[in-house]
Amino acid sequence: MSTKTVFATLMGRPNVGKSTLLNQIIGEKISIVSPKPQTTRTRITGILTKDAVQYVFLDTPGFLTGKNGLGKRMEQTVSDTVDETEIALFVCEAKAPNEAEKKMLARLRAMNVPAFLIINKVDAIPKEKVLSTISAFMAEFEFDAVIPLSAKTGDGVELLLKELEARAEESPFFFDEDQLSDQSEAVFACEVVREKMLYLLGQEVPHGVALAVDAFEEEEDLISIYVVIYCSKDSHKGMIIGKGGAKLKEISSRARVELEQHFDKKVFLKCFVKVKRDWENNAGLLDSLGFTQE
Ligand code: GDP
Ligand code: MG
Repeated sequence: MSTKTVFATLMGRPNVGKSTLLNQIIGEKISIVSPKPQTTRTRITGILTKDAVQYVFLDTPGFLTGKNGLGKRMEQTVSDTVDETEIALFVCEAKAPNEAEKKMLARLRAMNVPAFLIINKVDAIPKEKVLSTISAFMAEFEFDAVIPLSAKTGDGVELLLKELEARAEESPFFFDEDQLSDQSEAVFACEVVREKMLYLLGQEVPHGVALAVDAFEEEEDLISIYVVIYCSKDSHKGMIIGKGGAKLKEISSRARVELEQHFDKKVFLKCFVKVKRDWENNAGLLDSLGFTQE
């Protein structure tokens, strides 16, 4: 059987639904979703193998213009990803492009990357808005295909896969057929903890933290995971831990429940909070946390 592969990078403003779409396509939660922007920090690969076609998706944090070291590295991750992609999936909502989106499209044009326009969240908007969005975006960029869909309900996702398949090139598979992601289990555990923090803490704290797995030990019927949460201020540490440790307990226990479902095994999860002043500009720490080197 001759096999085909296609690589696609999800891009677009924060919060348009890139991670939700990736999860919908792969059919399992591999990228964290949040109502707050900029949840996805490093690039995440989702892999779908269907019959003779392997689809490899790269989820990115969206184009950001950060002032500190972290923001710069996130931006670097996006550029690296787009450079090596075959097709860009430009995800948007049903609105005319804003300045940030116009800038992204100008960069895509300069790189000569073919792109599909994905108008997401059609479950929540009237049809006329989709039509005016298409004409507004087509005036900025010559998209190879336009696909309105709902990442939430899955409506339109089949059409996207069909369009991608039409552009797949003959090649051996790059990943095992049952592999869903190249993200390690340790990274996944951190992402789940971080997602719970986003839900349970105030706006400002979760974006100022970094998580790392200190130990990940798998036994026959138990996985023990030790996560360190780095934050930059004592006051943040206090907020994360909460009165009498209540907040951290809630974060850990929600994360544990989800990790047990994911791994289908009992999980022992222990989270520690450490203050590391100015970690966002600490190159050594950023490297050890897996952010791309500039
Ligand atoms: P990202 O920043 O682009 O990765 O966006 P996320 O995937 O984290 O989603 C941002 C928010 O939009 C979340 O609250 C999602 O539940 C919501 N969302 C994503 N896709 C859809 C959709 O198709 N319909 C609706 N109604 N909401 C969606
Ligand atoms: Mg995301």
